[in-house]
Amino acid sequence: MKITILGCGASNGVPVLGCKCATCTSGDPKNKRTRVSVYVETGDLRLLIDASPDLREQALRHNITNVNAVMFTHAHADHAGGIDELRNFNYLNNAVLPVYMDNTTYEELHSRYEYCFQPPHKQFGWFRPSLAYTPLEIGKTINIRGVNISVFKQIHGQFIERAEPYVTLGIRMGDFAYSTDVKELPAESLAALKGVRYWVVDCLRPEPAPTHSHLDLTLSWIKQISPERAWLTHMNHQMEYNELKKHLPQGVEPAYDGLSFSL
Ligand SMILES: [Zn+2]
Ligand SMILES: [Zn+2]
Ligand SMILES: [Zn+2]
Repeated sequence: MKITILGCGASNGVPVLGCKCATCTSGDPKNKRTRVSVYVETGDLRLLIDASPDLREQALRHNITNVNAVMFTHAHADHAGGIDELRNFNYLNNAVLPVYMDNTTYEELHSRYEYCFQPPHKQFGWFRPSLAYTPLEIGKTINIRGVNISVFKQIHGQFIERAEPYVTLGIRMGDFAYSTDVKELPAESLAALKGVRYWVVDCLRPEPAPTHSHLDLTLSWIKQISPERAWLTHMNHQMEYNELKKHLPQGVEPAYDGLSFSL
């Protein structure tokens, strides 16, 4: 299985438009972060996790011409704003594209982008995305193209537009797990992460945040789960790559756009 981190930036990306801080003005490409997304290649599966607003640029950079499944962790704009770019994979595969998410996310994306969830147009074909939805259920495992993928519950925090805390999906595929946009991991989710070897996990900034994990909290989860390797993602401009890397424990590194590893 090959994992590529297409993007590891916070919702507004790094550099932040107009910001003159050391990270935003750094010449190091590892300080340039597009919005979070991951590409997974294993067997016949070419899985895209989230459709970031930077999807087109990410696909061009990595020459990604095949995506045959898409998972959405949740409906926030920094994870779904690139949904329209998915029609490129309709064109390239000449097929409807299967998309996987929980029902809450589907309802939200369907109300925002109803035109993406239609069958291909009889006359004009793939002029718009044509996505076929399959629901994901927390705690369940689904098999996509021969690969078992399980999803677990993550609490993103409390948002003004919702009475209930916002839930995002953590994803586990064998020895690999991906946890973006998480502020709290319930006990059953820590259990679902048990034994994971490689973990990519949310770490917005040095100090606590209402809707994301911060450095100390992320490091405490990593200590508890104790994967062989862990990478921090969804990082904002307070996280200067080289400075941060110096202070992380053995086996933990900041992710960067384009990082890939196999397992
Ligand atoms: Zn996000
Ligand atoms: Zn900055
Ligand atoms: Zn979010």
